[in-house]
Amino acid sequence: MKPLPVQVVLMGVTALSVIAACMPAAAPPTVPPPAPSPTSVILYAPSATPVAPPPTEEPSPTPGHPDQTALPAVDECAAFPEGVSTRYDITANMNYAERTVQVQETVDYRNDTGDILDQVVFWVAPNKQPNVFSLDQVRLHSLADAPPGILEGVRLTVSLPDPLLPGCSQELTLTYRLQLPLIGNPYFPRQGYFGHSGRQINLGEWIPVIAPYRDGVWVTPIPINVGEQAVIPAGDYRVTLNILDAPPELVVVGPGEADSSGAQWRFSLPAARGLTISMSDQYHRLSTTSRNGVLVEIYTLDDAQPGDDSGVDAPAHALETAAAAVELYADLYGPYPYNRLVVIESDFPDGMEFSGLVFVGGEWFRSYQGNPASYLTLITAHEVAHQWWYGLVANDQGYMPWLDEALTTYSEYVYLQENYPNLTDWWWNFRVNAYAPEGNVDSSVYEFETVRGYINAVYLRGAQLMHAVRQAIGTEAFFAWLQRYAETMRHGIAAPDDLWEALPPDLLSQTEAIRRSFLRDSGPTS
Ligand SMILES: [Zn+2]
Repeated sequence: MKPLPVQVVLMGVTALSVIAACMPAAAPPTVPPPAPSPTSVILYAPSATPVAPPPTEEPSPTPGHPDQTALPAVDECAAFPEGVSTRYDITANMNYAERTVQVQETVDYRNDTGDILDQVVFWVAPNKQPNVFSLDQVRLHSLADAPPGILEGVRLTVSLPDPLLPGCSQELTLTYRLQLPLIGNPYFPRQGYFGHSGRQINLGEWIPVIAPYRDGVWVTPIPINVGEQAVIPAGDYRVTLNILDAPPELVVVGPGEADSSGAQWRFSLPAARGLTISMSDQYHRLSTTSRNGVLVEIYTLDDAQPGDDSGVDAPAHALETAAAAVELYADLYGPYPYNRLVVIESDFPDGMEFSGLVFVGGEWFRSYQGNPASYLTLITAHEVAHQWWYGLVANDQGYMPWLDEALTTYSEYVYLQENYPNLTDWWWNFRVNAYAPEGNVDSSVYEFETVRGYINAVYLRGAQLMHAVRQAIGTEAFFAWLQRYAETMRHGIAAPDDLWEALPPDLLSQTEAIRRSFLRDSGPTS
């Protein structure tokens, strides 16, 4: 089938569309970063600037505590007993007219690091832009005068006056204010999952989260305009959102368990990478229940609605795609962890994944002509696949982005094989071969100056890698492998060896030549 010609205009420059889910723009921002203030250092890297050397994770100055003899016994500490290590309980009061949110965030953090901690570190994604995040207070429960947190860019360090033993938990409360940025602003023009447009407000990556702690280091990736950089340990989230000046037509959407009364909306989502909320006064809702019992809902804007006589119904097609995808991937990769899946037409490009809620770019709805050989099909299936590769099994999206993007891009092909088998050749030509992709699949986002180069190496050659492995070991063993990987790494953060070591040794050895040809680090030898 003929590929769809797609062009986009970015910042006044017409460019061949860079097509991929969750991709920020290659266009350079035009507004210079502000000077850092004493309490807030804005880390900012224009995407057109070569990034060399790659930013590194900052080491924790004192990961352990020097005097372990004076510590209380472990069984005297406060701990919550089970599940993921962090709980977030958030009350957010939004001033709708001003697009501000005043937040009180209580965090209950259990130290599962194995080290004695004298600090905890948050990844504060909203502070990657200036004039957005204002920290009012950090409060440690059981302590009246806690030292203030130190906020440096996206890194908030909180010192603990009493060391936190392994297995013990600490409650902290942050209060802060968000001034939501404009979607499409020059700093992160395509990261509109956090911000407002004239018709949509999105709260994605708005909650400071406890950073992962790896080998004595708190990992807080530096944000850039290529790809994503999140690496978020699973947490249980509860959000109460109050909007006293909400317009009567406002629809507020979030994942997981949801209810509302009057001017209050409540959401809870266990074992998630965040809790993302979207709202609009023009959302149109459709829903269906997938055969595996997931309530799938889609919310679309006015411009996606079907015309009177064309018979083209983009929202219905995306809803059907999402429902079929959540069924198929549950069969292949393991159960979907929630009862609901929310799809939202985004007022920013491409798409973006969050736990239990995904965005699909408005341009894919507007360009849909009724032909399933379309980006509306591909990006919807792609974002749903992130529920497994990102949501259930996370990875370091900055340094090892292929672990989610190669699997989700290949999942587009898997989706077509099952639902539109006559479109598989089209997919390889349109999505992959047309770009003659090259580069190491296991490149980091920091190695690329253009989004196109990043997509080619990580997404497209990544899909070729997965296909080559499947051809080498057979379809049955291939999906058994991915299912084993998902089960083993469920709610965790995976590294490449976790993926390869989910292969039985005999199959692992069959993939050695393939791994050498696609990867810089070809992984374990059998
Ligand atoms: Zn993706």
